[in-house]
Amino acid sequence: MSRHLSAFLLFLGLCLVPTLSRAAPLKVVASFSILGDMVKNVGGDRVDVVTLVGPGGDTHVYQPTPADAKSVARANLIFVSGLGFEGWMERLVKTSGGAGRVATASEGVTPLTEPSERDARPVTDPHAWQDLQNGKLYVANIEKALAQADPDGAQIYAANAAAYTRKIEAMDAWVKARFASIPQAQRKIITSHDAFGYFGRAYGVTILAPVGYSTESEASALRVGSLIHQIKNENVKALFVENMSDPRLIERIGKETGVNLSGALYSDALSPPNGPAATYLDMFKNNVTLMVAAMRGE
Ligand code: ZN
Repeated sequence: MSRHLSAFLLFLGLCLVPTLSRAAPLKVVASFSILGDMVKNVGGDRVDVVTLVGPGGDTHVYQPTPADAKSVARANLIFVSGLGFEGWMERLVKTSGGAGRVATASEGVTPLTEPSERDARPVTDPHAWQDLQNGKLYVANIEKALAQADPDGAQIYAANAAAYTRKIEAMDAWVKARFASIPQAQRKIITSHDAFGYFGRAYGVTILAPVGYSTESEASALRVGSLIHQIKNENVKALFVENMSDPRLIERIGKETGVNLSGALYSDALSPPNGPAATYLDMFKNNVTLMVAAMRGE
């Protein structure tokens, strides 16, 4: 190869570098912290994720801010969990005037429902992410939506999703192994609101809560009374508050039953980055470690 030709090829190569490096990151909005973490894992540095309800926030009763409307208006893609969790999101998307597509991460989940206390239609449990098998479904939906919005990144999203799914499967196996050593009769916990239905179904844990699927509703005296009765009768030892719920009712139940609080579970939001549940997977590690210790009476 002549010196001129190689110099020319080097020059050509340098010219190509900027076009080979990719365009600006995809602008993505995620409704709440747990979903935001999943989207970051699949999107990597091809996406710029804005999370609306941050660590410790209560998505059930969240009130969107003008800054949220701006983020939604600018977004190429908006992720919600669905199943009625973010009731405020539809209106926010509509009024923001943005053109970003809304993708529902829980699509394909087999929903849990319970009879409504107010009307004939059953209420759907939105906390599907608390079963790691559903988490895999979330990841598949996130990958599909990102690849549709940014086809050039499809291979990267597929590789990220595959690697993340392997971690979710490993955590799922770890959770099952941790509970396997606990007799079925001891696998009972009490927590603020009914956020662990999918978790209980997946891992064989009975979950008792004074408040239903949404933190919006209030505990009825009847429900609290029968819960206290059940805790005493069945000798339940694992009593938890939640990171994003008012702890007072649980503290009162603890006093009336003589059961000590076993710590805080992360149900609907992650902890801040320096906390014990800063990611979706660390949330399971934290919750299951606390639950198992409490069930053992440690
Ligand atoms: Zn909840």
